[in-house]
Amino acid sequence: MTYRNPETLALHAGWRRDPASKAVAVPIYQTTSYQFDDAGQAARLFALQELGNIYTRIGNPTTDVLEQRIAALEGGAAALAVASGQAASAFAVQNLARVGDNVVASTDLYGGTWNLFANTLKDQGVEVRFVDPRDPENFRRATDDRTRAYYAESLPNPKLEVFPIAEVAAIGRPLGIPLIVDNTAAPLLIRPFDHGAAIVVHSLTKFIGGHGNSIGGIIVDGGNFPWEDHPARQPALHQPDPSYHGAKWVEAAKPLGPIAYVLKARTTLLRDLGAALSPFNAFLILQGVETLALRIREHSRNATLVADFLAQRGEVARVIHPGHHQGEAAARSAKYLTQGQGGLVGFELAGGREAGARFIDALKLFYHVANIGDARSLAIHPASTTHSQLTEAEQQATGVTPGYVRLSIGLEHADDILADLDQALKAAAA
Ligand code: PLP
Repeated sequence: MTYRNPETLALHAGWRRDPASKAVAVPIYQTTSYQFDDAGQAARLFALQELGNIYTRIGNPTTDVLEQRIAALEGGAAALAVASGQAASAFAVQNLARVGDNVVASTDLYGGTWNLFANTLKDQGVEVRFVDPRDPENFRRATDDRTRAYYAESLPNPKLEVFPIAEVAAIGRPLGIPLIVDNTAAPLLIRPFDHGAAIVVHSLTKFIGGHGNSIGGIIVDGGNFPWEDHPARQPALHQPDPSYHGAKWVEAAKPLGPIAYVLKARTTLLRDLGAALSPFNAFLILQGVETLALRIREHSRNATLVADFLAQRGEVARVIHPGHHQGEAAARSAKYLTQGQGGLVGFELAGGREAGARFIDALKLFYHVANIGDARSLAIHPASTTHSQLTEAEQQATGVTPGYVRLSIGLEHADDILADLDQALKAAAA
């Protein structure tokens, strides 16, 4: 039987029972390596003529279930789990872009991704061109012959303005340029492949893991991009790869399915750079996945209540939430966020930076932490923390103003969340 509903896939995709013990819960296969059946099988595994376990740096049965499950939930062909969301973002770009190439990215990115793109990838010879996503045509304008990918976040914080996924994907497709979407803030709420994206990345650390206990990341291959039609645009997938006996990835993947992109990422980047997810973290994240559909609904419901509550308060100058935008941004919320508006809420206190600091210090239920997507409610002041390594101009470009406070709304009872916000707002205004 095949299932389509996320509630069912989250519990069943990729696993029924352990073939040896018949265990129902996914076991933690805490092993580094795997006994080959015979010399012939070992050779076939290394030659990619057969897929199977070789060594946990490049694949593990616990992690494999997580990969299959997230691929199923996103509607993709296959996935590669890695040690963190940062590793997923880095690999997603490095898999296509080499020295002298470029990527066009939205300005609305997590601060860590911004740093990775503006500094580390630049040092490695890959230029990232940042463009304002409010006009999708900016992606076309920044494109040249060496552009290998477009990159964006589906629901970027702090602006919480949904990215025009279909519009930018449609610009890239005829040119052979895939859209990579970081869907960390909107799992299940937005399905980027349905809108034409080619690759999805997640920080599993956030809503998918959901309990604030494990760092992880994943890259999902939509299996929906015509790489084979674009040899000049995508040399990394077409030219013989000297690191794998001259494999041409588009050819090598043919017997295995539409997975050339993710196959290359696993067999070269993960093999060489080694950012493997531990099986234990894969297990913990799988526990989160099982209830993701339920949790993301509750996160969304509570966050919408919080946004509406803040909008009524005199201490608050502005509420930033997908349900509180005007114009084009409101239209994109309505188009893309049909299942809920996500767990994040931003706001600016009328009292500016000092009031922001007083507010954060007065919170009692909310944790003051550099994270989002925990079952617990979280708060942070981005200008002095997550975005502090950016210049003020860069902070402004990503939407971080000095008085901005970001909330990640948890699963506590709404009355208790609102009561904590009420007392902290009064303390901030005092
Ligand atoms: N992408 C987004 C949207 C994030 O918010 C984060 C972390 O905050 C990351 C990627 C990086 O993920 P990780 O912290 O798992 O490396």
